[in-house]
Amino acid sequence: MSLARARVATARATARATASTARGGARRATTRVARARRAQDAMGDGSKPLRRAAATTRALREDDVDGLKVDELKDVLRTMALPVSGRKADLAARVKEALAARGEGEGEDEDEDATATIEAVVEATVEGRAVEEAEATFAEAREEGGVAETVMETRADAAPAETAAPVERRASVVEGWDEARAPTPGTAFWNAMPRATRADAREAEVTKTTSPLRVVHITAELAPIAKVGGLGDVVEGLARAHGKMGHAVTVILPFYSCLPTDKIDGLTHVMDYDVTKGRYQDGETRYFNFRTTAMRGRVNGIDVILLKPHDDERSNIFQGSKIYGGSYDEREAYLYFCRAAREFLIASGENPNIIHCHEWQACGFPMIFWGLRDAYGQDCDGMSNAKIMLTIHNLDSNGEARQEEFCATGVDASMFATVDKALDERTIGHNPERLCLLKGGIVYSNHVTTVSPTYATEILAGGGGFTGKNLVGNKHKFSGILNGIDPESWTPSDDPFIPYGYDSTNVKSQKALCKKYLQRGLGMKEDPDAPLVVCVSRLVPQKGVNLIEQAIRTTRFNGGQFVLLGTGHSDGVFRKMAETEEFGENSDSTRLMLMYSDALSHLLYAAADIVIVPSMFEPCGLTQMIALRYAALPLVRRTGGLADTVFDIDDASIDENERNGFVFDGTGAEDIDVALSRAFNLYKSKRSTFEEYQKRAMNVDNTWTEPAQSYIDLYRTL
Ligand code: ADP
Repeated sequence: MSLARARVATARATARATASTARGGARRATTRVARARRAQDAMGDGSKPLRRAAATTRALREDDVDGLKVDELKDVLRTMALPVSGRKADLAARVKEALAARGEGEGEDEDEDATATIEAVVEATVEGRAVEEAEATFAEAREEGGVAETVMETRADAAPAETAAPVERRASVVEGWDEARAPTPGTAFWNAMPRATRADAREAEVTKTTSPLRVVHITAELAPIAKVGGLGDVVEGLARAHGKMGHAVTVILPFYSCLPTDKIDGLTHVMDYDVTKGRYQDGETRYFNFRTTAMRGRVNGIDVILLKPHDDERSNIFQGSKIYGGSYDEREAYLYFCRAAREFLIASGENPNIIHCHEWQACGFPMIFWGLRDAYGQDCDGMSNAKIMLTIHNLDSNGEARQEEFCATGVDASMFATVDKALDERTIGHNPERLCLLKGGIVYSNHVTTVSPTYATEILAGGGGFTGKNLVGNKHKFSGILNGIDPESWTPSDDPFIPYGYDSTNVKSQKALCKKYLQRGLGMKEDPDAPLVVCVSRLVPQKGVNLIEQAIRTTRFNGGQFVLLGTGHSDGVFRKMAETEEFGENSDSTRLMLMYSDALSHLLYAAADIVIVPSMFEPCGLTQMIALRYAALPLVRRTGGLADTVFDIDDASIDENERNGFVFDGTGAEDIDVALSRAFNLYKSKRSTFEEYQKRAMNVDNTWTEPAQSYIDLYRTL
């Protein structure tokens, strides 16, 4: 058995025993046994160990050690990590001795110890693990010296020299709670925006540049009006940071029919203009003028141009109730959008210094920008200053298009259909061969960035699959810049979505109130001492769906609470879980919110003690940075941007001041379990240290200040 597994089991048992000691009471033990028995029934296991455990508890409570059978005595000794060899009389004497050694082995404390005992047995049973294995695990962990605590050692007086830090008892009353402001359970209470905001609280002093650049972003997303994932946040944050620095920034975005136009200030019509577009039908491509409308507005202070087919075109492009996966053909729509953006820039007389494209959806732009210059001369567009930057936020989607589909840009694709340009070499010999838009974007941009240095390194080392190979060939113009988070959206002292704002001076009390508010609203047990674990994520394989599922189970078994907020095509496992009694809507410890809600996400970060991000790969990741800012300690898998931003609290090779969360390698259930156990252990047995890390986390600067400057420095080198 590995040390890792031994650590999991030991840490789990420790956390459980610690919680048990803190809560105490044989009554609760009985409830737990009943619950465990139900779980066991559901698993179809025999109930012998549980019956034995119940008998053991009873006997210990009544101080009737002599009434225990040999197996029961051995169970007790095992959970105390004491030898189990010898005759019945020896075993009974050893148990009595251990009980006497507790000093205060009577009354409530005796019940508490009985609870710890039974819980250790129940744990082993419920998790389908033999008592013997648990015992061996404890012993092995001890031998290997990796973990000092065992169930017995956690108990205050069993072995004082090696005892873990005593549990800090906390008052269960949450000071400052305002019942009048409490949320109503069963409602979408998170939309209430419980506080007024002070925009000035979020404004950081920024030195204005004396040589402003003109930057245009071409993107499929912009938070908050068109946000599906991190892309929307990044464009918003970067655009706003550059605007504050004095650069002239415009974001060009599709005018999706589902945009909340009430969140766009001063929306006005700019122009109707023609965009060349092609249509492939019956083996022939026909080109025509496609009337397009440009609207201008401001979104949270950012200048936005919105492009859409003119009403007369009766097109379904960008129609539907969702940004993606709506009722239109995304490939056609975004290729048209790229051409429409180019024609808008020409018609409006813009001459930007930088055209910053994002993801495959904008990759048609660099292709046609340089492709048309090759065909019609360098002056054909009047954008003499322009250099093109492409940022890859996720290599997972790279956009493929058949040659004839590319005609939606109004440009014949044959000029791109070679291996050195945009041909996807994996399709050579297939009928038809296809273009890879992301590859075209890489080849035709002046510079390519990805969103963290570690992800850039991982890609070049072979982690980027097919597109990664193209980046290796273009590595002279490839680099990684870490994303930031936007303080306008993410500042807990001034967040309108959270009921009790806080900064690092009052985080302890205010976070406790936010936690209670969330627990009340979601109908969970209002327990200030249950570690609240949160996951806010797209539910797709990249995000480590199996590990999220494991974390939900482990959290519950270890006496914590878990709230998942997520959507995505891999949500099936969570839908099933949500139908069970343990994890369903009446669970006191778990809520699986399979939906998208920006408002609820704010509240979750504010209430959380721990935020998990167990991604298989993560180009940058914003959730862990938001978590830090909201004083929730991130627990992450060491990959991509997670490795650049989260530094393990137990890693002695890292400067103590830099450590801010829990990091694990590997992809197995036991890997995340070990990390969770470490987090729970710190939370439960060294709460003031945990809180110190929380305060420190709030002071980590993951805003756009540095990354925005890095982008400007890079823009100026192009
Ligand atoms: P990705 O871009 O891969 O989805 P990131 O960590 O870069 O992942 O960004 C995710 C962003 O989307 C964060 O701001 C996170 O809070 C938000 N988010 C993800 N899922 C949801 C959801 N279901 N509801 C609200 N916000 C979500």
